[in-house]
Amino acid sequence: MRFMLATGNAHKLQEFRSILAPCLVVPMLAGVELPPEGVESFAENAAGKAVALAELVVGDPAQVALLEGAAPAGRDWRDELLFLADDSGLEVEALRWAPGVTSARYAGVDGPGADAANVTRLLRELAGCAGSAARRARFHCSVVVVTPRMAHYRATGYWWGAIAEAPRGEGGFGYDPVFVPEGSDLTVAEWPQADKDQASHRALAGRALLERLRREGLLDGDREA
Ligand code: IMP
Repeated sequence: MRFMLATGNAHKLQEFRSILAPCLVVPMLAGVELPPEGVESFAENAAGKAVALAELVVGDPAQVALLEGAAPAGRDWRDELLFLADDSGLEVEALRWAPGVTSARYAGVDGPGADAANVTRLLRELAGCAGSAARRARFHCSVVVVTPRMAHYRATGYWWGAIAEAPRGEGGFGYDPVFVPEGSDLTVAEWPQADKDQASHRALAGRALLERLRREGLLDGDREA
């Protein structure tokens, strides 16, 4: 079974390759335009991207001809490919689960300075909250798979922890320098990347999705890569 991932982000592709192994994860085709993310829910955003990619590929005779050509003899490519998308962000209990779906632009800044500005705003919003219970938070990831016949499957992963008083560590991205996972004294930016890839909200959602697809019979042993 192969997944075609609805993202232009090479780092996300690598991460999902490791989470979903031994299934193959292939990039979407160059030039595909995905719908912009909305502000309602992670699941809706992920579904919007997966459906857009599925419709584009399934509706394009040139792509279908390529996929037919690449399918193993005697197999229908529609049974070999799943369209996958995700959406994720940080939710803080004391902030009524903000920044949520607006995590990427919490401070209203785009581009290279966005992560630092988002962290600064988050720490400012939590200035009156002391201790890890008051600063409880979770990373949330929704993953959605759409089949070429347009059946949908969805899974969610939550990575629980607390927001640190100040940023620490050089690794990762986004809110990693201020997120301290449950059971750890370190921020995620102080964790080795390989450990994060095993424990993260994306890993939890990806593993839940594989279980679901296996239960549905979509990942029968003979179909796995
Ligand atoms: P995306 O739309 O799923 O790529 O993520 C939206 C935003 O959520 C990112 O720009 C980050 O601010 C935040 N985020 C998602 N996952 C992580 C993570 O693993 N570490 C830190 N921040 C994250």
